[in-house]
Amino acid sequence: MKMPLIVQKFGGTSVGSIERIHSVAEKIIEAKNDGNQVVVVVSAMSGETNRLVDLANQIDCVPNARELDVLLTAGEQVSMALLAMTLHKLGYEATSMTGYQAKIHTDSNHNNAAITHIDTTPIEALLEQGQIVIVAGFQGVNHKGDITTLGRGGSDTSAVALAGALDAQECQIYTDVDGVYSCDPRVVKDSKRLPQLDFPSMEEMARCGAKVLHLPCVQFAWKHQVPLRVLSSFEKGEGTLISGEECLNDISGIAIQKDMVLIECALEELSSLISQAQLLGIEVCSVIEETERAAVVIKRDASTKLKLVFAEKIRNSEQVSLLTVVGSRTQDIVVSSHGLLSEGEVDVQHHLLQQQSLTLVVSPDQVDTAANILHKAYIVARETQGYLKKEVHFG
Ligand code: ASP
Ligand code: MG
Repeated sequence: MKMPLIVQKFGGTSVGSIERIHSVAEKIIEAKNDGNQVVVVVSAMSGETNRLVDLANQIDCVPNARELDVLLTAGEQVSMALLAMTLHKLGYEATSMTGYQAKIHTDSNHNNAAITHIDTTPIEALLEQGQIVIVAGFQGVNHKGDITTLGRGGSDTSAVALAGALDAQECQIYTDVDGVYSCDPRVVKDSKRLPQLDFPSMEEMARCGAKVLHLPCVQFAWKHQVPLRVLSSFEKGEGTLISGEECLNDISGIAIQKDMVLIECALEELSSLISQAQLLGIEVCSVIEETERAAVVIKRDASTKLKLVFAEKIRNSEQVSLLTVVGSRTQDIVVSSHGLLSEGEVDVQHHLLQQQSLTLVVSPDQVDTAANILHKAYIVARETQGYLKKEVHFG
């Protein structure tokens, strides 16, 4: 009978020192000794990718994209070799592979490439010999044989793509938190770890600011039905299992996006503002279309570019934050959320209701208060009193 195969991915902090690499090796050995074939994906040691970016920027603020990829992939190459050496020292056979060696093919979009296909033959050959295979995350190779990278945070995507291609039982993402939380615990102290989450809710959370998983990773896992588990590399626990199509909860969580900018223009200019943003590759996170005003909300980093291009047509721009409540029943909390926030003296500038989310635009100095109010009402209270059910029942 074929042994079950699991893919384990370890992020930068998990491989941040020789000591930590040692504990990662122990986790891998545990999985191997449980009778699994194990493929491991590693990130660069924490801080390393930033250090390399910084070196490149000392030469050129816009370095050559191909060469930047050559430079950045070195970070993961260090971790994979150190981890393989540690496993050898502990008596286990392991081989490390770059993206190129593991035949992870991508398009040619340097610095933000997408995986097109993976030829699993070399990895499978090593697994058959009983080896632990360690693959460098965040990197691949294009049709010309040039090294590419998948965009910052891309190792999650490498792991899930490998899990899909190898038909793994589960893709485990080990990180510095012990799962996906109902909100950012730094903002809302009583945020809760979610034991289970469905793909649509996780995708919405990742798209709207939850940083725990790279968005393409979630999308890939959903598309290929690869069960994902987010776990802590430092503590024991079940983490969060992400699987399934059905939205599990009335309200699953609240995602926060700080550092956003709202750019206003005349109503008749709105569609050209949106196409301009698309041309520049800027993601429009929210569109506001009212009788009196039209606006888009984008990330602050991208706003300078858009303002330059759209210049005189911009009526006003201001910093805002977005709060996105995710779940299957967000349509039922539009009225009550506005009520609760106005009681808490939070001014909601705009809201956007989508199938599984309700996004609220608030000012940056009120976003933390707003997140706490909504979390208390819809997540804490739901667990203790079935708050939402009552509202839906009588509403
Ligand atoms: N090392 C890369 C980064 O820091 C990729 C990753 O860690 O996922 O973005
Ligand atoms: Mg990450």
